[in-house]
Amino acid sequence: MKNILISGASIAGTATAYWLRRHGFKVTVVERAPAIREGGYKVDIRGAALRVVERMGLLDAVRARSTGMRVATYYDGSGRPVAAMDADLFGGRTDDDVEIMRGDLNALLYDLTRDDVEYVFGDSITGIADDGTVTFEHLGPRRFDLVVGADGAHSNTRRIAFGEESRFARYLGCYISICTVPNTLGLDRAEAVHPAVGRTANVYSTRQDTAAKALFMWSSPPLGHDHRDVAQQKELLARAMDGAGWQVPALLEAVRGAGDLYFDSVTQIHMDRWSTGRVVLVGDAGYCASPASGQGTSLALVGAYVLAGELATGGGTEEYERVLRPFVTANQALGPANLKGMVIGSRVALWFQLTMLRLMPRLPGRERMVERIAGPIARAANAVSLRDYPAAEDVAACRE
Ligand SMILES: Cc1cc2nc3c(=O)[nH]c(=O)nc-3n(C[C@H](O)[C@H](O)[C@H](O)COP(=O)(O)OP(=O)(O)OC[C@H]3O[C@@H](n4cnc5c(N)ncnc54)[C@H](O)[C@@H]3O)c2cc1C
Repeated sequence: MKNILISGASIAGTATAYWLRRHGFKVTVVERAPAIREGGYKVDIRGAALRVVERMGLLDAVRARSTGMRVATYYDGSGRPVAAMDADLFGGRTDDDVEIMRGDLNALLYDLTRDDVEYVFGDSITGIADDGTVTFEHLGPRRFDLVVGADGAHSNTRRIAFGEESRFARYLGCYISICTVPNTLGLDRAEAVHPAVGRTANVYSTRQDTAAKALFMWSSPPLGHDHRDVAQQKELLARAMDGAGWQVPALLEAVRGAGDLYFDSVTQIHMDRWSTGRVVLVGDAGYCASPASGQGTSLALVGAYVLAGELATGGGTEEYERVLRPFVTANQALGPANLKGMVIGSRVALWFQLTMLRLMPRLPGRERMVERIAGPIARAANAVSLRDYPAAEDVAACRE
């Protein structure tokens, strides 16, 4: 097996391209967008994924671009600050975990691979035949030994090879939307959060950002939105947040002019198998844990490393699934659990959360509280032992 096609040039796709190239495969990446996609919110790289980034030689570059967040402050509906906590605790980060903007990480991974990998932008797979012949919307048919679906939670490759998304999607009862807004609150590496019953608004500005990001989450029955209709998505967001207090009306006004809206249901993908015939899935396409898990990027990075390593050393897709499955299961379990603290279900629960946050600095046993917030994430983030997969270029260097 030599010639591999990857669909999707986000975190999973570019990271898989990197590792496949290092193992000596010939790699083509097809991405539907016209260029590498910027945007998205801050993502965490934790535990095993940090070791993967280190093995890619990217750790210093990632740290240099970390968000540098300092503090998260909670506000009530009238704009009164009610509690604050340090940003690492707010993000559930421990040890040397790093937070970085999704777009910055994607750009780093793309730069690392662009010279050795063929990138085809503005195209999409339309069919995959049993003999490996792949047809595209624009390119002529080409033959590949393997197709890697790294095209996200709404994967096109998964639909072609495994069937409709509804068979694998598990909706967690909530929506998320995020976009760039002017930093009218003057936030400096700080986050402002307004939790209300059934909906939460959040604004932050990171070290590199002169603007801010507004993030909204809300409980809802499935909205059946059109993934490509941004005007409809803005309308649905405005309706969901209608009547909310704090800075929400001004933020919604800013959202109207935003050009980078991310809008999706909080949904996980659960599959019994991630490979069939000549197709294998990596990242959100195969095992989306949802933004509520805080582990989507780490899963994509570790998945890319293990998939490429097993393909190179003979374990193949069977061994990829065997090594990765417990790690995916542990991290997907974080999603529903975390979500309860992100979108609060009742007035009593909201009162309880704010009271606990307010009292936290004065309560004895802060360590126990930290363990309760960050402990489960840290354990899940480390729930895989990374094998050493000697890369082709390293083997060649040893032989010389
Ligand atoms: C622009 C953007 C913004 C995001 N913002 C957030 C966020 O704010 N919060 C959050 O939790 N997660 C966000 N995500 C998702 C997050 O990046 C992933 O959960 C995680 O990093 C795992 O990445 P992935 O590579 O598996 O999937 P994704 O990051 O979703 O990447 C999938 C890639 O496949 C491409 N693609 C889709 N369909 C096709 C097709 N038919 N043919 C070719 N390519 C295709 C997409 O354009 C994208 O580049 C965002 C993703 C993107 C692309």
